[in-house]
Amino acid sequence: MTFDSAYGLMVGYNFLTAQDLRVSSAVSNTADVVIIGAGAAGLSAARDLTARGFRCIVVEARDRIGGRLHTIADPASTTPIELGAEFVHGGAPITRQLARQGRLPIYTVVGDRFQSNRRGFVRLADYWDRLDKVLRLLDQRRSRDRSFADFLAARPGGHKLARERALASQWVRGFQAADPEIVSERAMAEGSSPGEEEERALARITDGYASLVNLLATGVPDLRLAAVASTVIWQRGHVTVVGTTRNESFEVTARAAIITSPVPLLLQRGQTPLEEMGGSIEFEPALPDAYRRALETLAMGDVIRVSHVLDAPFWRTKSVGKNKTLRSVAFVHAGNDGMPVCWTTHPMESPVLVAWFGFPESAELVRRSSDEIESETIAAVARLFHTTRRTLERRVRACHHHNWSRDPFTRGAYSYARVGGADSAKTLSRSIDATLWLAGEAYDAEGRTGTVEGAIGSGLHAAQGVRRALGLSADGKRSAL
Ligand SMILES: Cc1cc2nc3c(=O)[nH]c(=O)nc-3n(C[C@H](O)[C@H](O)[C@H](O)COP(=O)(O)OP(=O)(O)OC[C@H]3O[C@@H](n4cnc5c(N)ncnc54)[C@H](O)[C@@H]3O)c2cc1C
Repeated sequence: MTFDSAYGLMVGYNFLTAQDLRVSSAVSNTADVVIIGAGAAGLSAARDLTARGFRCIVVEARDRIGGRLHTIADPASTTPIELGAEFVHGGAPITRQLARQGRLPIYTVVGDRFQSNRRGFVRLADYWDRLDKVLRLLDQRRSRDRSFADFLAARPGGHKLARERALASQWVRGFQAADPEIVSERAMAEGSSPGEEEERALARITDGYASLVNLLATGVPDLRLAAVASTVIWQRGHVTVVGTTRNESFEVTARAAIITSPVPLLLQRGQTPLEEMGGSIEFEPALPDAYRRALETLAMGDVIRVSHVLDAPFWRTKSVGKNKTLRSVAFVHAGNDGMPVCWTTHPMESPVLVAWFGFPESAELVRRSSDEIESETIAAVARLFHTTRRTLERRVRACHHHNWSRDPFTRGAYSYARVGGADSAKTLSRSIDATLWLAGEAYDAEGRTGTVEGAIGSGLHAAQGVRRALGLSADGKRSAL
């Protein structure tokens, strides 16, 4: 199946596209619920509500479903290539239950973790324990919130935890994609310390996140692709979503709306060339002040992740000391708490090496052209693996990445709370006059921000609110989950 990408990507990975999903123009434009966005949150909400007998219309700006779940295939790789989310983090009970239901195999990520320094590779033993030593000192109940940088500046753990603090800083900048100067200590304390064994688990869906997306979409009959919503006109119990699809305008009317647009699309409108490309949503009347203030306390991190498809997994024979190689390596971290962090597909065998850049490198890289990004990341990966750029270049068969920060319908990778914003997701997860609901990774009240589990959970939470507001389905059908 060919995937027609608006962003110059390659062959699709079994993704449902406009050709597969009938884009309806002659059908009714009236529904019980209109949902903006066919990512994890929007599809989960639509699936749940449809299964309970509610008529839903989903409008999606792109020519494909999935949003930040975007799996592609490369003939030279035996594993799917993810341009957005890749891992199932922690217990993730909703994601795992869905996968079981859809018979989608999941495998656990095992393997070694190394740090690369000037002299070679050092095994990062007890990675999570060391991280937890610092992260467990974050204070969720602080009366005055402060930034993670201020938390670190107070030298929690003293001299003994200096290295652990560097590791924690790399983790916050890397995997949380957050600027330590602005990310909230209280929010981090609530959502992110991977203290328990279950929270530390990492897994992958064997056939890629696309298989989960397709599962979620299967129960949703009215999905309209290439339909960019621009205005939500609402009053209690009545919503009209106005937008454009290809060359025509559209209007969809419903009793309630679930809006899953990422934070920047609800805040900015037509100020920059990226915003002028569309996607921003205007509300008439405007969102209540409490919601606008809460949105302003959320930031969107930048991430650059590049999947390098190589001629062979060269690291497997790379020596890391007497009779030892990187054969079972899963992750390699840059030394001195820098970037990138690289990972392999271990325990699956594939010649793919992913390089991941978080803050602040990503903030600079997202402004570059694709060629420049690839050239810079190859140079950084070569340094990490103690080889030359030219040697690595000769081995690279293809590079795949998507610049989410320059994607008009995302404008960043995922969200985090600024100082003072620890409770914002909870505020935003509440309905607006029992008529509008925000759903998505940024608006998850359970602290699962920035994850697929959070997006799905938040979609289901919004669906539950809609069901209560509109009345439970007459046939009392059980949830799709
Ligand atoms: C590089 C990267 C790596 C990640 N890695 C992981 C990971 O390993 N594990 C993990 O759990 N999470 C990861 N995440 C986060 C995860 O991908 C997101 O949390 C999740 O997919 C968000 O789902 P969502 O439905 O909230 O938003 P989205 O997926 O962004 O869905 C919103 C949808 O709304 C559409 N839309 C926007 N504006 C409009 C409009 N005006 N009209 C109509 N439609 C509109 C968009 O096109 C999009 O399809 C990663 C994200 C990125 C970017």
